[in-house]
Amino acid sequence: MTTPTFKTFLITGVSSGLGRAFAEGALHAGHRVIGTVRRAADAEAFAALAPDRAHPLVLDVTDFDAIPVAVTAAERQVGIIDVLVNNAGYGHEGVLEESSIDDLHRQFSANVFGPVAMMKAVLPGMRERRRGRIINVTSMGGFITMPGISFYCGSKFALEGISEALGKELASFGIRVTALAPGQFRTDWAGRSMDRTPRTIGDYDAVMDPIRAARHAKSGNQPGDPAKAAQALLALVESANPPVRLFLGDDALDLVEQKLEAMKVELGAWDTLSRSTSFGCDRGATRSA
Ligand code: NAP
Repeated sequence: MTTPTFKTFLITGVSSGLGRAFAEGALHAGHRVIGTVRRAADAEAFAALAPDRAHPLVLDVTDFDAIPVAVTAAERQVGIIDVLVNNAGYGHEGVLEESSIDDLHRQFSANVFGPVAMMKAVLPGMRERRRGRIINVTSMGGFITMPGISFYCGSKFALEGISEALGKELASFGIRVTALAPGQFRTDWAGRSMDRTPRTIGDYDAVMDPIRAARHAKSGNQPGDPAKAAQALLALVESANPPVRLFLGDDALDLVEQKLEAMKVELGAWDTLSRSTSFGCDRGATRSA
């Protein structure tokens, strides 16, 4: 029988939802968790989960200067970080034309720049030790897209791309990176956490109003169970050969498979034009289908 190895996790956004469930799952399995929150009351509630192993860290992931200082202090106080889970993030809902560049900046600050700053803070230690796990919580919206959340999808596509490329940079150091892409899970994501840009352009009513209404109605009734996502996260961490990305939920898998199929058809339909652009190629820029 092998003795379980208890690890130190750093999980961002443990006040609710997936982050809270990930932290509870890891604590229940005997691990130590440094969990970031933004409010003192959330810090107290988190510490109360396991007073000797749940260590709250008050941190906004968009405070990029504070991140390395906070991570160094937490490592000194609690111990070296074996697993970083970049979970904190939120959804912006709004038609692109109605949404501001500030909305886009905020979305990317929380969902892309913050996670990158967190990775940069833990990487020197992981690289020195030649081991470590980084799990970036992306979304099925980082692979498939839906109208009305273009900024959110863009941020999650960005984090997917960064994760995949970073995994290649780190492979020889024994550090593994996985993008964990949930479908719809029952959390505060579509409720109190969502940033909704007010509707102003009537032309979009037919597309956007039903989507916004459906998302409101679905909030609290999503099929995904955060506690089960936490078990998947633990399995990922224990795996000797973790995947580059892992989708969670029937909805995510079904939509991803549909997209892959559609991409394959589209690639084939435009194959000749795609291949017509090299020097010396005389296949002609005409559509093949
Ligand atoms: P949630 O219940 O709203 O939890 C979001 C967490 O992120 C909260 O702890 C929140 O803290 C924290 N957070 C947000 N912005 C932050 C910032 N700037 N700095 C620090 N913490 C911040 O929603 P969730 O569904 O669990 O979301 C967790 C992750 O899963 C997100 O990255 C989300 O995009 C992703 N995701 C969710 C779903 C889903 O269906 N639920 C699907 C795909 C992906 P506060 O309490 O302080 O606001």
